[in-house]
Amino acid sequence: MTLMLRNYVHGEWAASHAAESLPVVNPATLEELEHVPLSSREETAKAVEIAHDAFLAWRNVPPGDRIQPLFRLKALLERHIEEIASTITIECGKTLNESRGELRRAIENVETACGVPMLMQGEFSENIASGIDEFVIRQPLGVTAIIAPFNFPAMIPFWFLPYSIACGNTCVLKPSERVPLTMQRIFELIDTCGFPPGVVNLVNGSKEAAQTLIEHPHVQAISFVGTTAVARSIYAHAASHGKRVQCQGGAKNPIVVLPDADMEMTSQIAADSAFGCAGQRCLAASLAITVGDAQRAFTDAIAAAASSRRVGYGLDDGVEMGPVISADSRERIEHWIARGAQEGASLVVDGRKPRINGFESGHFVRPTVLDGVRPDGALAATEIFGPVLGLLHADSVEQAIALVNSGRYGNMACLFTSSGAAARQFRSAADAGNIGINVGVAAPLAWFPFSGHKESFFGDLHGQGRDAVAFFTRAKVVVERWPREWSRRF
Ligand code: NAD
Repeated sequence: MTLMLRNYVHGEWAASHAAESLPVVNPATLEELEHVPLSSREETAKAVEIAHDAFLAWRNVPPGDRIQPLFRLKALLERHIEEIASTITIECGKTLNESRGELRRAIENVETACGVPMLMQGEFSENIASGIDEFVIRQPLGVTAIIAPFNFPAMIPFWFLPYSIACGNTCVLKPSERVPLTMQRIFELIDTCGFPPGVVNLVNGSKEAAQTLIEHPHVQAISFVGTTAVARSIYAHAASHGKRVQCQGGAKNPIVVLPDADMEMTSQIAADSAFGCAGQRCLAASLAITVGDAQRAFTDAIAAAASSRRVGYGLDDGVEMGPVISADSRERIEHWIARGAQEGASLVVDGRKPRINGFESGHFVRPTVLDGVRPDGALAATEIFGPVLGLLHADSVEQAIALVNSGRYGNMACLFTSSGAAARQFRSAADAGNIGINVGVAAPLAWFPFSGHKESFFGDLHGQGRDAVAFFTRAKVVVERWPREWSRRF
C-alpha cells in the first residue's frame, strides 16, 4: 500500500486534506513509491499565516543564534548522505554518484549561509556632516516562498532556504510534485534541528499551492526555478502582487570546441555535461560548436563516448546514466530527435527506444548525437532536457561566439581550447551567466551567484551566496544627528 506524504507546518507533520493526489513513481522501475497530496489554497495559506506569526519572533533572534540550527542541519545531512542520495536516485533517476554530488552542493549552501552574521552586516559612514552619521542596516523581509523543479530535489531548494532563514525570514517550500520524497526526508532532519515552530515549512502540491504562495499578501519574496514559460509568468504575476522575485528558467547551453583543445579530455568532459543526469541539468551542454579542424576529431570522439555510456538503474554499480523523469519527457525527447532529423541533421548516435535489461518499462533514452544541426532550426532553439547533443560547425571563434549569442537562453556557455587569448575573448563576449573554460558544467559554488542571462533568468539577484543574502534582506538607511551640545556634559 502506498502512503500519502505529509506537509510540515508549525514544527509538526500534518496530514493534508487535499482532494487530489499524484503517485510518485520510480522512473527506472515504474514502482509506485508514495502519493503526494496536491495541497489546497486553504492549506497553503494556513502555512503562510503560521510562517508570518513565526517571523515576528524569529527576526529578533540574533543572527549568531539563528545559524545554530543550520550547523546542526549540516551535520545531519553529512551523516545521512547515503540514505538521502538513494532517495534522490529512486525518485529522480540520476545515478547514486550524481545524487551524492547534488547533496554535497546542498550542504555547501548550508555552510555558506552559516556566515550570515558577517554576510548581512551593514555599512557605516561616520561624520557625513558635523555630528551626523549615516548607515545601512539589512533586515529580513518576512515570509519567503520557494517553488522548486524536479531535477535537483535536494540542491535547488538549498540555493534559497538556508539563506532565507539565516537572514531572519521564515520560509514555505513547495517541492516539485514529481520528486517530493527527498524533502520529506530532509524535513525529518530539519524537525530535529531546533528551529522554532513555523520558521521552516513544507507544503506539497502543484500549481494551486504555487499560485497561493505567489498571491498571498503575507509572502514577501518568491524564489522559483523551472521552465522558462512558467518562470516568465510567475515573475510577472508575483511582481504584480508587489513581491520581490527571482525566477530561474530553462536553458540551451552551447559549448565551443577549438582545434587546439585536448580532444580526449574535451570529449569526456562534453559527454559528462551532455549526458550526465540524463541531460536533465540546466547546465547540460546541448549544442557543441566545433571550429575549423576540430569538427572531425570531436565528432568521432563524442560519438564514441555517447555509444559507450553505461545506461541503467542509478542504484546499480557502474551505471553512468539513469532514466529521464517520466514517459512524457521520454516522448518529448524522442519527438525532438525526430524533428532534428527532419530538419536535416544526421543521427550519428540514436538513443531512442533502448532496451535496458531488467528495466524494460523504465523511461530510458540513450545518449544521442545529431550532426549538422541547422543553426536557424527549431532543434537548435529548443530546450530538450534529455541526453541529446546537437553538433554545429563554425569557421572562426567569432562565428562560434555569434552562434552562442544568437540563442534565446543564456544559462551557460563553455569553451575548450589551449589558447589563453581565445579564452579571454570568449569569457568577455559570450552572453551567458555561467562561463566554463575547459569545464563542461560551470556550476557556481555556493558562495558565487547561480547566474543566468536572457530567458534563463528573470530578476536581478540570484540564488546562493551574497546575492541570496541581498535578496532575502532589505536595506534600511539611517541618518543620525547627535550634536554634542544636546548631551549632558560628563
Ligand atoms: P516546471 O516549470 O514544470 O515546474 C517547476 C515548479 O513550478 C514545480 O514546483 C511546479 O509544481 C511549479 N509549476 C508548474 N507550473 C506552474 C504554474 N503554471 N504556476 C505555478 N507553479 C507552477 O519545471 P520542471 O520541469 O520541474 O523543471 C525543469 C526545468 O527547470 C527545465 O526547464 C530546467 O532548465 C529548469 N531549471 C533551471 C535551472 C536554472 O538554474 N536556471 C535549474 C534547474 C532547472
